[in-house]
Amino acid sequence: MEKKNIDWGNLGFAYMETDKRYVSYYKDGTWDEGALISDATVTMSECACVLQYAQTCFEGLKAYTTEDGHIVTFRPDLNAERLESSAKRLEMPVFPKDRFIDAVAQVVAANEAYVPPYGSGATLYLRPYMYGKNAVIGVKPADEFEFRIFCTPVGPYFKGGVRPLTLCVSDFDRAAPCGTGHIKGGLNYAMSLHAGVTAHAAGYDENMFLDPKTRTKVEETGGANFLFVTKDNKVVTPKSNSILPSITRRSLVYVAKEYLGLEVEEREVFFDEVKDFAECGLCGTAAVISPVGKIVDHGKEICMPSGMTEMGPVTKKLYETLTGIQMGRIEAPEGWIKVIK
Ligand SMILES: *Cc1c(COP(=O)(O)O)cnc(C)c1O
Repeated sequence: MEKKNIDWGNLGFAYMETDKRYVSYYKDGTWDEGALISDATVTMSECACVLQYAQTCFEGLKAYTTEDGHIVTFRPDLNAERLESSAKRLEMPVFPKDRFIDAVAQVVAANEAYVPPYGSGATLYLRPYMYGKNAVIGVKPADEFEFRIFCTPVGPYFKGGVRPLTLCVSDFDRAAPCGTGHIKGGLNYAMSLHAGVTAHAAGYDENMFLDPKTRTKVEETGGANFLFVTKDNKVVTPKSNSILPSITRRSLVYVAKEYLGLEVEEREVFFDEVKDFAECGLCGTAAVISPVGKIVDHGKEICMPSGMTEMGPVTKKLYETLTGIQMGRIEAPEGWIKVIK
């Protein structure tokens, strides 16, 4: 398979159209057999439920080349399960897990020429998503849906080296206490855009959202979960029913316990405690872990002891172990790596 002529090391995080995408349509209570298609555009009614009432959810995962030359994905079964819970919460039909995993493999195989080579730092980002497609004007769920997966090659997250982030405590809320913060719905992102643009304009990389009810507990950023390290090397990660269950965070918790022998606490984390932690990181598929160097709460700065130039030592060990597992340099737990080729 001849690779596309792409400057892998200089790719950013931007959409690039690739050759094939997967589509399956749901109508009259069943999903059709699904197919790979070449057309990258979607045509739908001006009154489609997704356009009027935002009935849509998505997933994000990566395919990449391992050290020994295989093309693999990381825990796609968990993306299938999470899409299922998102779909149920948004009154959408479930796309079967086995078909989800198979469709991911089909899309990767059909776009093999776009899978970045080992060592380039780049990966093939996969975006499964589902939306209500038929016309709906009275407020109710659609009854026809489309499930799709496209892929696009993306560059190394830390181009030119790691740069710890500066966060600000947001005045906006990300999710309501009994709302949709725990699902990966487009609606959560639509309402975070203003908070994100506001934070960027003020010179911050990301928002830290607190729990909307009491504004005393740490929730997450717009698209990544928090992981803290205490001064005595305990890993602490916030527990809340309004944060999105990050697959990266859940994997890092396992790695911390089972590979590094660290103590892990998944519990409510009060903002007041943050000043006492030694390290802070954001976890998600895009970067695995981005170190946080500084958190600003209305002018009051919390500077993490790990500083503004590198990852803290525990964060770094977690990062290296998980990326080692993903890239095939360290033996993976049973079922984590799905080999496509
Ligand atoms: C996708 C997402 C994450 C990260 O989840 P991963 O499965 O690790 O990629 C975290 N928070 C939010 C709000 C998200 O949408």
